[in-house]
Amino acid sequence: MDQRQRRNANGWRLGVDVGGTKIATLLVDDDNRVWASVQRPTDTRTPDHALQSLADAIWETLKQADLPIRLLAGIGIGIPGQVDTQSGIVRHAVNLGWQSVDLRGFINATFGTACVIENDVRAAALGIQRYWLAGSIDSILYVSIGTGIAAGMILDGAVYRGSHGMAGEIGHARFGSSTIRCRCGNYGCLEAVVAGPAIANYAQSLLSTFPHSQLQHQTSITTSAVYTAAEAGDELGLAVAHMVGDQLAQALYTMVLAYDCDHIVLGGGVSRAGSAFFSPIEQALDGLRQQSSLAASLLPAGRVKLLDRDFAAGAWGGIALLDSQALARVAQAQLA
Ligand SMILES: [Zn+2]
Repeated sequence: MDQRQRRNANGWRLGVDVGGTKIATLLVDDDNRVWASVQRPTDTRTPDHALQSLADAIWETLKQADLPIRLLAGIGIGIPGQVDTQSGIVRHAVNLGWQSVDLRGFINATFGTACVIENDVRAAALGIQRYWLAGSIDSILYVSIGTGIAAGMILDGAVYRGSHGMAGEIGHARFGSSTIRCRCGNYGCLEAVVAGPAIANYAQSLLSTFPHSQLQHQTSITTSAVYTAAEAGDELGLAVAHMVGDQLAQALYTMVLAYDCDHIVLGGGVSRAGSAFFSPIEQALDGLRQQSSLAASLLPAGRVKLLDRDFAAGAWGGIALLDSQALARVAQAQLA
């Protein structure tokens, strides 16, 4: 018998993180060993093109491991948008151009396998809980800082979605006095101030104040250039990094006051800048701790962690979705 058939009484699982620019997959066995992973661009020309890129990424993953589809217990998918986890329908996913897309139906029809879907940031929170922090962890606040900002929460051991699947939309809360217009229509939202594009814009707006900044030599300023400059001690880079740190520290403290989570994890594209991104946040949190014993007790040093840049939280979240619903065994039984 072939190695792939001999292993695994109960579960080859495929996790997918669907983003507006790329799709990332992971295929794991019973012992959560990774047998294949694929990254490919998302084709967002039309909703159908986006679905096709998802299907292509899944086929490519199976091919990489040479795994027959019938051995797959299920596919877990994180989607950037509002999803109905019960029906498997994606209500809105702006970046994918999806509105009322029956994603589970599409996966069932295309692959003949079980499928669980979840909002991407919530799925990532699950992936972090199960496979990054590991251990018995009851409450997590995962904040993703990328093109937008959102939080995924696990509270008292369960994913928290809210009544309309909108819990954790922290990117549209205001923590400072900024009057920058947000794409939601309001002013000064967190993501209008410190998400990736906002960071680059802020640096651009300060260029004339810092004539000797290394960012003067950039044809167009990117968030990653800002953090590279900060890392090198550039004053403009540092000024921007500290503004971001102050805002995020305020936001994190507010969320911790509201939800009292044990673990706070930061991830997303902007966070991949590493210590240049994270140190100013820690400094701002230290400031809060020194000011307030309440802040010191709720946010002790080390409670906020930076996700490893190599950990594919979203795709691991897809795997975790299958675990959490014990789908592996059920689907395998159905398909056997
Ligand atoms: Zn907003």
